[in-house]
Amino acid sequence: MQLTSFLKIDEDSDFSIYNLPFGIFSGPKITPRPGIAIGNNIVHLAALAKAGLLHDAGDLYMEELQSPVLNPLISLGPDVWKKMRTRVQNLFLDKNRKMWGAVRPDSVLVSMNDCRMHLPMAIGDYTDFYSSENHAANVGAMFRDPQNPLLPNWKHIPVGYHGRSSSIVVSGTNFPRPKGQIKPPTAEIPSFGASRQMDMELETGFIISEKTNLGSSIDVKDAEDYIFGMVLFNDWSARDIQSWEYVPLGPFLGKNFCSSMSPWIVTMDALKPFRVPMPKDQEPAILPYLQQKKRWTYDIQLEAEMVLHDGQRKVITRTNQKHLYWSMNQQLAHHTVNGCPMKVGDLLASGTISGPTPDSLGCLLEITKRGQNPIEFENGVTRTFMEDGDSMILRGYCEKEGMRVGFGEVKGTVLPAV
Ligand code: MN
Repeated sequence: MQLTSFLKIDEDSDFSIYNLPFGIFSGPKITPRPGIAIGNNIVHLAALAKAGLLHDAGDLYMEELQSPVLNPLISLGPDVWKKMRTRVQNLFLDKNRKMWGAVRPDSVLVSMNDCRMHLPMAIGDYTDFYSSENHAANVGAMFRDPQNPLLPNWKHIPVGYHGRSSSIVVSGTNFPRPKGQIKPPTAEIPSFGASRQMDMELETGFIISEKTNLGSSIDVKDAEDYIFGMVLFNDWSARDIQSWEYVPLGPFLGKNFCSSMSPWIVTMDALKPFRVPMPKDQEPAILPYLQQKKRWTYDIQLEAEMVLHDGQRKVITRTNQKHLYWSMNQQLAHHTVNGCPMKVGDLLASGTISGPTPDSLGCLLEITKRGQNPIEFENGVTRTFMEDGDSMILRGYCEKEGMRVGFGEVKGTVLPAV
């Protein structure tokens, strides 16, 4: 269905009338609070409620609409935030100008240029999966055994690890290069120093919308009812620290120095038109608690652009959410099958998303084959991993039949070690 807004929204805007993602913004004389992105503007939800235009959705929830994190709003439940988003969509449709009465639409809009975006929620816990078969196989071949790149459990379990929510930052936050123990394959013993293999990981993440109790599990068929929406996620990784420390308990200090997320949470309602089926049968057969009658994912086009400290820039990979082997439902069902409780605002990330082709790999480790094939820029400049002052920008969007639903971007710059 074609929707037209009376607002001027660029055709290639990520934040079309179909999208309307939630985020936390602050602006001129506005403390951090929830907003909805539309074109180059942010709908100031508390102002909209004050103007009496959120009706049953907004007026009653002024406290939640002035909170510096989305958790209280999300905790009100899907009935509230779904209605709120639909209401905003209706208000900005061409045919509904009358709904505004005497209120001027620009009185509830703030230009994105005048705003700062904040981490959208208080993240209680953060988990990162490892759900791309191409990524797991490529890394397994490099770190372990090219003949048997996948470990025996990989096609039975959505493998993951627990990260640290304390080091998750919003797009635009820069961070110092991490230091740690490093042992090159040729060295006898480890040495201490700044990482020389600073990598990124192109991922998406989803945010939990409903708490579950200790001892309870989420059924695989209902799992999406527990998801508020999705973000872009860069799980920065220090490969030299990681490759020495990860045996036998998995990633630790090579990962938890910084992870970056995009500020706008795209709702599952906005993503629904871009659902695509996943292969029905997984081989070998999986256990019943992971089986879905219909498995689906989302056709989200993803890319990473590297910006060097000398200003050169290049899109170094293009991939897609649909390349993942495990669905979000399966990830969430697996995460809770043992009774692990979920909290509102928890973040679960996909793991590096690599496609099947050499131009669709989700991290520098894979793109450069652990430094063997440098990426070439102009004037003989090359990169294997990130140098100080280099930035990475991840972008993602869905597009079909004139509808565009995008995530904006997540950007971070590696600063010198301190
Ligand atoms: Mn990761």
